[in-house]
Amino acid sequence: MQKETMSLNSKDLIALEDKYGAHNYHPLPVVLAKGEGVYVWDAEGKKYFDFLSAYSAINQGHCHPRIVQTMKDQAETLCLTSRAFYNDKLGVYEQYITEYFGFDKVLPMNSGAEGVETAIKICRKWGYEKKGIPLNEAIIVVCGQNFHGRTVSIISFSSDPDAKGKFGPYTPGFESIPYNDIDSLKAIIDEKADKIAGFMVEPIQGEAGVFVPDSNFIKESAALCNANNILFIADEIQTGIARTGSLLAICGDCTCQGHCEQQESYTRPDILILGKALSGGAYPVSAVLANDAIMEVIQPGQHGSTYGGNPIACAVAITALDVVKDEHLAQNARKLGNQFRAEMQKLVDKFDILNLVRGKGLLNAVVINDSPDSSTAWDICVRLADNGLLAKPTHGNIIRFAPPLVMTEEQLMDCVAIIEKTIAEHISA
Ligand SMILES: *Cc1c(COP(=O)(O)O)cnc(C)c1O
Repeated sequence: MQKETMSLNSKDLIALEDKYGAHNYHPLPVVLAKGEGVYVWDAEGKKYFDFLSAYSAINQGHCHPRIVQTMKDQAETLCLTSRAFYNDKLGVYEQYITEYFGFDKVLPMNSGAEGVETAIKICRKWGYEKKGIPLNEAIIVVCGQNFHGRTVSIISFSSDPDAKGKFGPYTPGFESIPYNDIDSLKAIIDEKADKIAGFMVEPIQGEAGVFVPDSNFIKESAALCNANNILFIADEIQTGIARTGSLLAICGDCTCQGHCEQQESYTRPDILILGKALSGGAYPVSAVLANDAIMEVIQPGQHGSTYGGNPIACAVAITALDVVKDEHLAQNARKLGNQFRAEMQKLVDKFDILNLVRGKGLLNAVVINDSPDSSTAWDICVRLADNGLLAKPTHGNIIRFAPPLVMTEEQLMDCVAIIEKTIAEHISA
């Protein structure tokens, strides 16, 4: 069976997914078979730069040798105990991650959506037990164009008709304000502060097309929450772990490497949600961090997951976070990000088909000058793949560019050349 699979070409493999898999994704027609650092190879051995990084899960690069070694070692020793018993990795990991990000406690889960669900549950329970909101009346404020995952409760407050349509009835208790609109947040707090338990926000909206809010939006919303006894919840599943040029996007311009020496210089959320790059792409690991006064509302039997906090996840996450620090990935993302946007700005100036470039660190997007319904961004991505660079359109006519953070300056310039060549080809086609 294994031999037979290995002899299948990309066309066969796409046909298999098409026939036997649910059609819940629309991938570019590229079948990947191997990865190393910033590179991936398809089933025919063609090499590509990865400019998506599995939606920022691969910040540390594909198959990072230290992460892979940790995973192998732990897999040979102990994989899963469930939380019916203690295991010898969980406590060590909990101490490590809470010190790394500066919180009292962590609640370990697997997928990002589970992390968000966990934060919602903690926030609601805190609202009833600590804030005194009447039972079942807690409100969590969210932002338009958000992306927090795919569960029924999470899509209940999505503004994307594909994500939400025909999946009702929806979970109540969420109210949406426009992103980056501090006045709307003020207005809803003025009206309903007593019932608002939390405000959940992405410090930069990734899926929506890499929207970077005004520099004071996050700080001011956190301050408003703080003044009104509302939990400020940061979903850093995509933006966190060095992606945007600092350990967390909420760190702003703080350049610390994990052990934040300037805690007061950044907006500390009451609840921080991490996922994706927490394992460097090796394993599904998510985490919800909060201080004792918040986390203590969760007691035995009230939340959990069979795999959450398993020994492989714990060991892998420690190494993945070590790599971020040891290899100075935040600094590299910051430096290369500035360079990348400067290079893309030259292309925006040169080619009418490119409207603008925006982003922070190595989470960037180029907006295509065409209707959101046109296939221009898709066509360019197909052509980029032909030229050896993998990127994916996101909402409308936007191409997200988010390579692994282990990229070198020289590799980045090679990628810029591929992008320039591709745009020129697209225009003359
Ligand atoms: C990817 C993502 C999620 C969901 O994570 P999954 O692991 O896909 O469930 C939630 N929030 C943000 C901001 C994300 O980017």
